[in-house]
Amino acid sequence: MGLDQIKGRIAAAETANGRAPGSVTLIAVSKVQPPDRVQAVLDAGQRVFGENYVQEAAGKWPDWRARYPGVELHMIGPLQTNKLKPALELFDAIHTLDRPSLAQKLARQVQARGACPQLFVQVNTGAEPQKAGITPDVADEFIAECWALDLSLTGLMCIPPDEADPLPHFLLLRALAARNGLTGLSMGMSADFETAIAAGATHVRVGSAIFGQRSYA
Ligand SMILES: *Cc1c(COP(=O)(O)O)cnc(C)c1O
Repeated sequence: MGLDQIKGRIAAAETANGRAPGSVTLIAVSKVQPPDRVQAVLDAGQRVFGENYVQEAAGKWPDWRARYPGVELHMIGPLQTNKLKPALELFDAIHTLDRPSLAQKLARQVQARGACPQLFVQVNTGAEPQKAGITPDVADEFIAECWALDLSLTGLMCIPPDEADPLPHFLLLRALAARNGLTGLSMGMSADFETAIAAGATHVRVGSAIFGQRSYA
């Protein structure tokens, strides 16, 4: 598929849905990809990337950051509390704020550092037991708790259930964001980013459609 085609499809979806050109941020998800593929996408001018694992990101991004000015790194994988400190050193955005213990620790670190990354609350829109994210029934309460901790939130994030039609999940996330006065919507991946843009996504997280299939071997 490739970067240019994905950018073209995002631009077309913006136009088709009356969205301003450039209003959707493409996060190129580079987890587990061979370095030459990531470097090719950096060389093509992409600067916003997503990673799932703190350790993997720490191993590869400091060097690329030094060589490619303007890189913006987004944490999109589950975040363990004991990885928070290195995560804050690496990432410009965290999409997986999903529980009070993490919010409390994050608030302390943000105060100590005097800087806060962009923050998205992950909502488990399908209420799947195996999946991370705050469930929709307690999302409003959790968002209020983040504000009480002085955390400034950019928006909400979701990963719809594997086999489900994603649209109702995207619309649920949009409704949750709207009633909490949040404008950021991190939703849509390789298979469904156009549907997500139609539903109001501001950030799409696209991996395999840009870089090719991931090999975990
Ligand atoms: C891996 C991952 C993606 C990218 O998935 P693709 O299907 O390869 O586009 C997006 N979001 C999250 C949270 C991921 O873990």
